[in-house]
Amino acid sequence: MRSPDPTPPTPTPPATPPPVPTPAPEPAAPTGLPLAPTGGPDMNRLVGTHDLLLVTLDTLRHDVAAELAEQGRIPHLARHLPGGRWEERHAPGSFTYASHQAIFAGFLPTPAAPGPHPRLFAARFAGSETTADGTYVYDTPDLVSGLAKDGYHTVCIGGVGFFNRQGPLGSVLPGLFHEAHWEKEFGVTSPTSFEAQVTRAEDVVRALPADRRLFLFVNVAALHQPNWFHLPGATREDGDTRATHAAALEYVDRHIGRLFAAMSSRRPCFAVVCSDHGTAYGDDGYTGHRIGHPAVWTVPYAHFLLPHRAADTTADNTNTPGTAAR
Ligand SMILES: [Zn+2]
Repeated sequence: MRSPDPTPPTPTPPATPPPVPTPAPEPAAPTGLPLAPTGGPDMNRLVGTHDLLLVTLDTLRHDVAAELAEQGRIPHLARHLPGGRWEERHAPGSFTYASHQAIFAGFLPTPAAPGPHPRLFAARFAGSETTADGTYVYDTPDLVSGLAKDGYHTVCIGGVGFFNRQGPLGSVLPGLFHEAHWEKEFGVTSPTSFEAQVTRAEDVVRALPADRRLFLFVNVAALHQPNWFHLPGATREDGDTRATHAAALEYVDRHIGRLFAAMSSRRPCFAVVCSDHGTAYGDDGYTGHRIGHPAVWTVPYAHFLLPHRAADTTADNTNTPGTAAR
């Protein structure tokens, strides 16, 4: 502001400002998400007022996720996906460690179309071309400590080995959080890994004072090899296939309603659900990940709002009961 001009050309500011035509009314998304002028979620109106959930469905391929959504095989996830469809994105890394380091640095999977694409979260970084109006900008090296600085309690529930806290490398990513959980039953060899992770998430939510905001990160191990045990009738000798990968996603879908219910029991929750990278099942002769192949770098992504709904003792009523342990 300048100091007052002794001869102002328009001297009489009205008591109430005149109507300003330009700023458009805040766009109202059908999903209830507050939107930034760029059209994406306005993270500056979500951070501080909402609980936050980040779920990485480790190793989930985009093509398998898209097929299952289309075929009605993952109803509990699909009801939250905008238009019932996964967004196709490119992974920021080809394996768990690289991808999660990037994700926690604010680089979620990138929309699979020419950009630039504004980011939801970004460290303050001179010249960043993907930091926009709706971007939540923090002054720490990573999103987790940025949210912690702004009052969030940060919790990691790990799945694959990079979260197992059993050695220095397996402690790096969990070490970003206030609180980190890993048990063998959360890991890749457990046929009930996701149910166990969700139960721990429910415990975490229950233990937290109501006024404390929560950032919960869950790395889901169920999709990662080995996953043959999720397909009824499959055997170890049959091995992991695209079909057992799909069955693992159906397994996750049967239980994810409980996670969403827990995370929306305290206040509304902004959720990001995505994969960190895909994996190859013999595509072009390749098996596995940490390679540059479309089956690896193409991943499913979604973000959405979970409206606040009070916790009740039938919180898992959006799930089909029963069919868990195989
Ligand atoms: Zn991974």
